[in-house]
Amino acid sequence: MRRGTARRCILVTNDDGYDAPGLAALVEAMGALGRVVVVAPDREQSGAGHALTLGRPLRVRQTGEDRYRVDGTPTDCVHLGVFHLTGGRAPDLVASGINRGLNLGDDVTYSGTVAGALEGTLLHVPSIAVSVATDEEGRARFEHAATFARRLAEAVLARGLPAGVFLNANVPSGRPRGVRVTRQGTRSYRAAIVERLDPSGRPYFWIAGAETTPAGEPDGDHAAVRDRRISVTPLHANLTHAPSLDGIARWARELL
Ligand code: MN
Repeated sequence: MRRGTARRCILVTNDDGYDAPGLAALVEAMGALGRVVVVAPDREQSGAGHALTLGRPLRVRQTGEDRYRVDGTPTDCVHLGVFHLTGGRAPDLVASGINRGLNLGDDVTYSGTVAGALEGTLLHVPSIAVSVATDEEGRARFEHAATFARRLAEAVLARGLPAGVFLNANVPSGRPRGVRVTRQGTRSYRAAIVERLDPSGRPYFWIAGAETTPAGEPDGDHAAVRDRRISVTPLHANLTHAPSLDGIARWARELL
C-alpha cells in the first residue's frame, strides 16, 4: 500500500545538536516528503554512540510545531519521538544527520548520528543516517548531501528496507561522482590521547582522532568516499559473529 505524501511523517534527529546547520539542511530536504518532526539533542552529542539516558529525567522543550529540543542523546530523541512526540503513530522514516564529518568503518560504533538510525530500526521504523566529509579547512557544505538524503529517503519510503537493516550514507566533500554500496570497513582514525596540565597543575586528557594513512578494503566505505563516491552501507544491530560460533563453542563448553 502506498501512502500519500501528505500523510507521511519523518522523524529527524542528529548528534551535532539542535542548532547545527546539518540538521537544518536535513529538515529542509525532508520537508518535501511529508510532515517533519524534529527531535534533536539540545547540545552536541557526537561520540555519544547508542547511549540511552536512564538515570535522570529527560526535559523536552518545544520550540515550534513539531520541533523539540531534548537534553539527551540521539537515541533518547528517537525513543521519545517514535513513542510520544510524533503523536500516536510511528513515523514512516527516521533520518539522522546531516553529520558534520564522516562516519565510516569502526567509527560508526561511536557515532550518535548512526545510533539515531539504529534506534529507529530497533523500533521497527525504516531509518537512514547521513554524514558529509569536511574539507581541508574543516568546513562542511551540506547541499549535495541534502539532495542525496532526500533521494535516499524517497527510495526507502517507496521500497522499504529488510527487517532490522538501516542505511549509513557518507557523502564526500565537493560534487559526488556516483553512489557505491559498500561494506563497513575498519578504522579510519587512530585514537590519540593529548595529555596536558590544568592551571592547578593536575594532568588532564583529551581524546582526539588522528587520521591514519588511507587503507582498507576495496569494497569498503572508506574507499568509496576516497574515490569521491557516496558510500551507502546497509547495517544491522546484531553483532553476532556467526563464523566464530562453532570454534568458540568447542572450548567454551568445557568452562563449567
Ligand atoms: Mn556529530
